[in-house]
Amino acid sequence: MSLQFNVAQLLKTNVGQTREYDFESDLPIDLDGVLASNISGHAKLILTNFGIIATVTARATLHLICARCLEPFQTRAQIAFEEEYRPSIDITTGLPSTIPVGDTAFLISQNHNLDFREAIRQNLLLAVDLIPVCRPDCRGLCPDCGANRNLQECACRPEETSSPFAILEALLGDQEQSGSPSEQKSHVATSTGHPKSHVGDRRANG
Ligand SMILES: [Zn+2]
Ligand SMILES: [Zn+2]
Repeated sequence: MSLQFNVAQLLKTNVGQTREYDFESDLPIDLDGVLASNISGHAKLILTNFGIIATVTARATLHLICARCLEPFQTRAQIAFEEEYRPSIDITTGLPSTIPVGDTAFLISQNHNLDFREAIRQNLLLAVDLIPVCRPDCRGLCPDCGANRNLQECACRPEETSSPFAILEALLGDQEQSGSPSEQKSHVATSTGHPKSHVGDRRANG
């Protein structure tokens, strides 16, 4: 099913008449880079002197990227809105409608189809978090090694000891039992390159 409804019959009735529809669509909507899929909802249409007032509730699955851990995740969004649709063609004469569209109303097509897609897109856009987070306690990425801390504990030191001086002190402290000052310096200087070989050296020496 689509998000379009032919309202020719409703337009031919009297002001105040209503129609109700359930709808669902598998066709995703692009919300400026965020995809909305599995769209479903309910619409109530009321004929007015100017056109049709649609009262809509809808749900969609939003495909987001977590701002903390950068992993894709999905969330269900629910929206409720009321929009006005005005005819582009007069249903009785078949000529262009003389009713002004106005700034806020949507147009009913020349085939008398009322399409919710754009209204749903605009209202879903308002429902997207500016800073989406996959879950409230997402631990994000390690600022040092980039590991996803939701999935693994990395070997990086906790934040309070992560200053360069703290790391240096710890490295120097580790080596106090063995090695001369010159060996300590060489270890620090190359620790970002091949730390494992040095650890091996140290064990062999000790
Ligand atoms: Zn996350
Ligand atoms: Zn890390």
